Amino acid sequence: MTVNATPLLRVRRSAIHGRGAFARRDLPQGTHLGVYAGRRYSAAQGVEEDWSGWDGGMTYLFALSDGSTIDGAQGGNATRHLNHACEPNCQAVEEVGPDGVIVLCIVTLVAVKAGDELFIDYGLIIDESESPADYPCGCGMASCRGSMAARA
Ligand SMILES: [Zn+2]
Repeated sequence: MTVNATPLLRVRRSAIHGRGAFARRDLPQGTHLGVYAGRRYSAAQGVEEDWSGWDGGMTYLFALSDGSTIDGAQGGNATRHLNHACEPNCQAVEEVGPDGVIVLCIVTLVAVKAGDELFIDYGLIIDESESPADYPCGCGMASCRGSMAARA
């Protein structure tokens, strides 16, 4: 099994958005589902991407606390298919590897049943020139805040 393997995830069409990641079996709270893999850009490099082209479906950029960014569209694994929900059942947790590099682990927040779709709260950081409404959420949950942007 490679470090990028995600044996607990199954990717298939989501009722909410495009493709989604689903649990292959019942998963207890705190289960590590995999590492968010992809091409890494350091803070100094910046991301060679036109952020204005973001459309909520084609971009898999994940910003880390050290200023670096992981692009799951390049060399990523099944974890990039987790959709956003305002009441997520998973979260992305930063862990520092033995080499001092931050890795992003996808971990269940609650117990999940086999076949359930898995979600994280994207909590997008947006520019002042943008509105949370530019990133509409369709999760349909009772607590939906209507946007994939971070809570104000
Ligand atoms: Zn929502």
